Amino acid sequence: MQNRFDPALVDPATLPSSDLADLLAAVCDIESVSGDETALADAVEALLRDQPHLEVTRDGDAVVARTLLGRERRVVLAGHLDTVPLTDPPNLPTRLEGTGDDRVLWGRGTVDMKAGVAVMLALAVELGRQGDEQSTEPVVDLTYVFYDHEEVEAAKSGLGRLARHRPDLLAGDFAVLGEPTSADIEGGCQGTIRVEVRTRGVAAHSARSWRGENAIHAAAPILARLAGYRAAEVEVDGLVYREGVNAVGIHGGIAGNVVPDACTVTVNYRFAPSRDLAEAEAHLRELFDGYEVTVTDASPGARPGLDDPLAADFAAAVLELTGGVPKPKFGWTDVARFAELGIPAVNFAPGDPSLAHADDERVPVRELAVCRDALRTWLRGA
Ligand SMILES: [Zn+2]
Repeated sequence: MQNRFDPALVDPATLPSSDLADLLAAVCDIESVSGDETALADAVEALLRDQPHLEVTRDGDAVVARTLLGRERRVVLAGHLDTVPLTDPPNLPTRLEGTGDDRVLWGRGTVDMKAGVAVMLALAVELGRQGDEQSTEPVVDLTYVFYDHEEVEAAKSGLGRLARHRPDLLAGDFAVLGEPTSADIEGGCQGTIRVEVRTRGVAAHSARSWRGENAIHAAAPILARLAGYRAAEVEVDGLVYREGVNAVGIHGGIAGNVVPDACTVTVNYRFAPSRDLAEAEAHLRELFDGYEVTVTDASPGARPGLDDPLAADFAAAVLELTGGVPKPKFGWTDVARFAELGIPAVNFAPGDPSLAHADDERVPVRELAVCRDALRTWLRGA
């Protein structure tokens, strides 16, 4: 097969001392802009099929690998294979800069989220391998999910497709999603809902404006309510989520000499995961009482799930290694899809999330080993 990683990159005999930079470079250098993940999925599949301790399933350009150790509990490690488009000139192949502990790998995907993928691939090869000196037995069963089409519209999501085709493959007690967090645990995610708030008026020539009713003027109280809105800070499972209600668009007007008869304010509400979609919608309907409100788009949040003993052990492993404590995730990630499947999930991976999708995407090499070591310690129950 053409698309293959050099087995030396994931050899457990060398990995304990390696920093994973070469493996990450290899994963990034197989371009995989959304819709073009096949080559990388082939390489991932080939690598995982070479591991006798894993049962591997391919669905489109998603690859699922599972240990079958008969453990009581199962942890899912998941990451998307696709990236946003390259820059012009292209920010690939990757390049390594600096020396020693300060090395940084630059290039598309290094942060979002092939660093997470590389860490998971290394663990997939290492944990649960039988019969060699590096044998390391995890205390839980493990499922690795690598999937396509995350950076595009939700309907195309490879994780969504797996949930429809093979929900059994995603089953587990707890999930870690490899979205960048600078090696901190970021729990759950906020929900998001978008609504259009409409005013109506009566059109008239602006030279005889007293015959009309101006719908844009009628929107003034909507904007005043938004400007005066005090967003809540909500504690969920010990993490404080900061909400926000914001106008993200306004549309109205027919021509330069017409009193407009309609105006629409588009409002986005980012809400704490303690509220469900119905509560979020009700909150906006109450805020804009008296106006026509239409929901255009909504995705539920996800609770951080940090009350699970598995999560507590994970948090302890990270605290021990980095001194970091769990934080809330601002923004929406696929942990919400796991929440919908009833699986508590957190984000955890190398890379500064604010560099995701940036032209100068880059990751500190030392964060790769930190994340690998924290996950390995936790999963081996050490
Ligand atoms: Zn991502």
